[in-house]
Amino acid sequence: TIRRYDTLAAARSYKPVINGDFKQAHVTEVFGEFTLNLDGLKERLPKTVWKELKNTIEDGQQLNPSVADAVALAMKEWATEMGASHFTHWFQPLTGATAEKHDSFITPNQGGGAISEFSGKDLIQGEPDASSFPSGGLRPTFEARGYTAWDPTSPVFLIENQNGKYLCIPTAFASWTGEALDHKTPLLRSIEALDKQAKRALALFGVDSKRVTSTVGCEQEYFLIDQEFFYRRPDLMTSGRTLMGAKPPRGQELDDHYFGSIPDRVLSFMLEAETELYKLGIPVKTRHNEVAPGQFEIAPMFENCNIAADHQQLTMIVLKKIAKNYGFECLLHEKPFDGLNGSGKHLNWSMSTKEGLNLLEPGDSPHENMQFLFFFSAVLRAVYKHQDLLRVSIAHAGNDHRLGANEAPPAIISAYVGEQLEDIINQLLNGGLKKSMKSGLMGLGTPVLPTLPKHAGDRNRTSPFAFTGNKFEFRAVGSSQSVSFPIVVLNTIVAEAIDELCESLEKKMKKKKLEMSLKEVLVESLKETHDIVFNGDGYSDDWQKEAKKRGLLNLKTTADALPTLTSKKNVKLFEKYKVLNDREVHSRLEIWAEQYVTNLTIEVDTTEAMARTMVFPAAVRYLNELAAAVKETKSLKMKNSGSEKMLKTVNSALNDLSDALDNLKKTQEKLKGGDIIDQCKEYRDYVIPAMTKVRDAVDFLERYTADDYWPLPIYREMLFVK
Ligand code: ADP
Ligand code: MG
Repeated sequence: TIRRYDTLAAARSYKPVINGDFKQAHVTEVFGEFTLNLDGLKERLPKTVWKELKNTIEDGQQLNPSVADAVALAMKEWATEMGASHFTHWFQPLTGATAEKHDSFITPNQGGGAISEFSGKDLIQGEPDASSFPSGGLRPTFEARGYTAWDPTSPVFLIENQNGKYLCIPTAFASWTGEALDHKTPLLRSIEALDKQAKRALALFGVDSKRVTSTVGCEQEYFLIDQEFFYRRPDLMTSGRTLMGAKPPRGQELDDHYFGSIPDRVLSFMLEAETELYKLGIPVKTRHNEVAPGQFEIAPMFENCNIAADHQQLTMIVLKKIAKNYGFECLLHEKPFDGLNGSGKHLNWSMSTKEGLNLLEPGDSPHENMQFLFFFSAVLRAVYKHQDLLRVSIAHAGNDHRLGANEAPPAIISAYVGEQLEDIINQLLNGGLKKSMKSGLMGLGTPVLPTLPKHAGDRNRTSPFAFTGNKFEFRAVGSSQSVSFPIVVLNTIVAEAIDELCESLEKKMKKKKLEMSLKEVLVESLKETHDIVFNGDGYSDDWQKEAKKRGLLNLKTTADALPTLTSKKNVKLFEKYKVLNDREVHSRLEIWAEQYVTNLTIEVDTTEAMARTMVFPAAVRYLNELAAAVKETKSLKMKNSGSEKMLKTVNSALNDLSDALDNLKKTQEKLKGGDIIDQCKEYRDYVIPAMTKVRDAVDFLERYTADDYWPLPIYREMLFVK
């Protein structure tokens, strides 16, 4: 059939229509237009109310419920002035997506009038039915309700389409017993834990700060393909990735796409997406092509981690939404195309005081550098002790295709620190700093040590966790996932490391000066944990061996990683810092393991359906044609070795496909089940390989079946038509 060519023609001649008249506005004109932050509220709130709210937002003080009514009124006024008709609590269930339940600001009454329905009570708390969100056993079935609780620290915003607007109120989501059913609640708790420990440490260095939070900036990679293709690929629609498709003759080998000039239609999309993000107060800053054809990246300026996490979710939503205006589908999956680079999300993370001091910024004075080394060593300690948790935080079916596939970091968690810092660590460990003790400053400034590198260029792309001058970059995060749990893990494990280092520092400081005590503490801690430092090539086989020798974990797949979440060590950690209780930790394991199995089940079903109902019939039609040709030529006594050979090839490939499908079915029937982790392992060990066999047979057929019979848009078309 020629249908595929119609698709191709439609894609080639696509002209954006919906926002054809869109012109990018100047950033300053639109920035924050659709969000009401503290500054915006100042004009609308009585001074005392505003001050109370400010203390909550900036210093983490508990919110006085009496301010809620005034704030609700101000929000409603602003939103309705802006043309919004509805409001929703906007929350982040453990599916990794966001959820909304809309209510009208105004309810018509029987007398033909309307009453206003948005008070402090509505702002503070909502009661969505929680039964359709995953709870991992936290919510008993007889109690379907959950509640959402306003997060005043993240500004409300408006979502708009051409027919109207609604107000979104960032909220936490919990069960009636108070257990977190979402990503935001533990994130807010982990911010408290980090704040407490970091301030305690800063006090030892004589720094007084009102509040410390982590700062986060996420670089988001994504693919764009024409919608015409998307809707003709059931696999992209159900699973977000192509489950079959032969490699294109020209992939990313030429490396000509990376940082190349951005195609016009894509640029138009980016300009509108950025404007939309600016309106929401999301400070996007960079855009460029990525390694694979059709792959791009967008990155914001960093923000407080809670706001950054909300903004990251919104960024994904906006990219997907605006892409459609340009006839594109935005693919956020980690591995949309086999054989080409997948997509990740680099999570840049640091800690900063409210007063603006970056705790991972090496300073100019020896004193500042002592403080830097303290926090820097704390992060290394955290990563060493909790490799498993960092690994779990990025474990899901999509990311399994990327990690360790020589395009993304390996599954082994290690930290890249750069040569100069490694040198300093080694000097500390070898007692090489002793000489300088005379100066009383441990020689942490010049001349004994090289000046600490500022923004040292790091081009080691093979490390999962790299120090990049004044922040760490967690590079193993998947492109489609919520960044909240990775941030929760970082905040919590670093809080613990700071706690432990403070503990020994405080003990030593009873007898010795800060400088002496600190040196001892750093040496002790680095001795224990410096095996986590690795500056070499993370893709190499040598590293796999070396890491094993060092005793580092190598949790290759989601099924290996997930069970470590609920180890005694990890439950104790989360409980100690009041981030998650025992039940909450277990519920997450349950939910994420279930998601893994569900995702794979969908992939299997889709693979089977496509292979059976799209690929098989197409190949049979071609086989028929070949058979007829062979018969015909034979009767005409012509030489027909070509068609006969092709007939045999296609016929045997069809037999292979049929066998592979039978095998897939049998494999599924033979699954034993068992607990959810056993199920994950069975899928990994039996179902995925059986699915791959089907794919191989299909991909082989794609290379031999007549192009005009092939029913699926092929890689070459999807990747290069823009
Ligand atoms: P590069 O381009 O070399 O990767 P950038 O400085 O452009 O580095 O930063 C990349 C990402 O890191 C951006 O999203 C940026 O906002 C973020 N980032 C920079 N500094 C910090 C910080 N202190 N904390 C968290 N994220 C940061
Ligand atoms: Mg980066």
